[in-house]
Amino acid sequence: MVRFKVPKPISGGLLLTYQCTSECRHCMYACSSKWNGDWISQKDLEIVLSLLSGRIRPSPRGNQSVGLNYGLHFTGGEPFLNFDLLLKAVVIADELRIPSTFVETNCYWCRKDGDTRERLQLLKETGLKGILISVNPFYAEYIPFERTKRCIRISREVFGEDMMVYQLEYYHRFEQLGITQRISLEDYLELTNKEDLTQKVELFLMGRAAHQLKGFYSPYPAQRFFDELCRPQFLRDWHNHFDNYGNFMPGYCGGISLGHWRNLNSLVTDGIDLDKYPVLSFLIANDIRGLLNFAHDFGYHESPEGYVSKCHLCLDLRTYLVSKAEFQELKPKEFYAHVSP
Ligand code: SF4
Ligand code: SF4
Repeated sequence: MVRFKVPKPISGGLLLTYQCTSECRHCMYACSSKWNGDWISQKDLEIVLSLLSGRIRPSPRGNQSVGLNYGLHFTGGEPFLNFDLLLKAVVIADELRIPSTFVETNCYWCRKDGDTRERLQLLKETGLKGILISVNPFYAEYIPFERTKRCIRISREVFGEDMMVYQLEYYHRFEQLGITQRISLEDYLELTNKEDLTQKVELFLMGRAAHQLKGFYSPYPAQRFFDELCRPQFLRDWHNHFDNYGNFMPGYCGGISLGHWRNLNSLVTDGIDLDKYPVLSFLIANDIRGLLNFAHDFGYHESPEGYVSKCHLCLDLRTYLVSKAEFQELKPKEFYAHVSP
C-alpha cells in the first residue's frame, strides 16, 4: 500500500457555497447561479473552523492584518449572498482565534454607500480582519465597475491597509478607460488588445478558463505537457481550499478532493491510501502521461484541437473519467457539469 501525507495546511480559503451572481469565464471553481443553492451548514462551519484553528498562520504583519496567501479567507461562490452565514463564520473564527481572516467578494452587493459601509463595519466589529476585492475584465462583464469602486473606497475606510485588490493593474486600467458600468470582454478588448489578457497579468488556465479562454492561447498536443510540474498549485501547505461539501481541494484545483476535511488530522498524519485513488496517485507523482494512459483505457481520445495548458489537459481527462466511472477523488460532481461550456 502506498500512502501519501497531505501537507499540513497553514493558510487557505473556505468556500461557503459554489453559488454566485456571476459566471466569470476564468472561474477556477466553475461557480454560477446554476449550482444547487447549497451552503455550508452551521455545524460544518464549527467543525471545519475548529480543525483549522491552531494550524492557520497569520500574515507577516500579524494576526490582526491580512495577506493574500496567509490566514483564512471566506469565499465561494459569492459569500455576501448569505450575509448572515458569513457573519456566523466570522464570529466562530474569531472565537477560535484564527488569525488574518478576510472575505473575498465580487462586489455585486455594493449598490449604495450606506448599506456597503454598514455591512463592512459589522464584519469588522465581528472580528473580520480584512477584505479581498476582485477586479478583472471577467468580473466586469457582470459587475458594474462603479460598485467595485464603491467597495474599494469604503473598504479602505473600514479596513485601512487590510483592503486588498486583486488585480490592481486592472483597477487602474478601468479607471484610465473611464469604465463605470458592466463591459463585455469583447468590448473591453476593443478598447485595449488581446495581450492585455495573455501577457500582462496573472491568469491560471484552469477550471472554466481552460474552456472559455482557450481561444486566446496557442494549443499544443498533450505530450507538450508531460514534463510540466503541477506544483505549486498542487500539494502545498499554503492557500488550499475547503468547500461546503467537505472537500479538501489542493491549491486551486477545482473538482479534485484530497479527502473529507473532517478527516484532516488523519490526512496529514496517516496520509492517503493512493491505491484507492488512481487519479490522485498519478497527479501526486506529477505523471499526467500516466493519467492520460489511464483515461485511454476508458476510451479517451486526445483532442485534435490540443490543449492550452497542463491544467486544461488534466481537466479534460478528469471530465472524461467522471463520465465513465466513480472516482471518490473527483468531487464535487457538479463541478464537472458546470465547468464545460
Ligand atoms: S470568479 Fe468569483 S465572481 Fe466569478 S463566478 Fe467565480 S466565484 Fe463568482
Ligand atoms: S494539472 Fe491538474 S492537478 Fe495539476 S495543477 Fe493543474 S488542475 Fe491541478
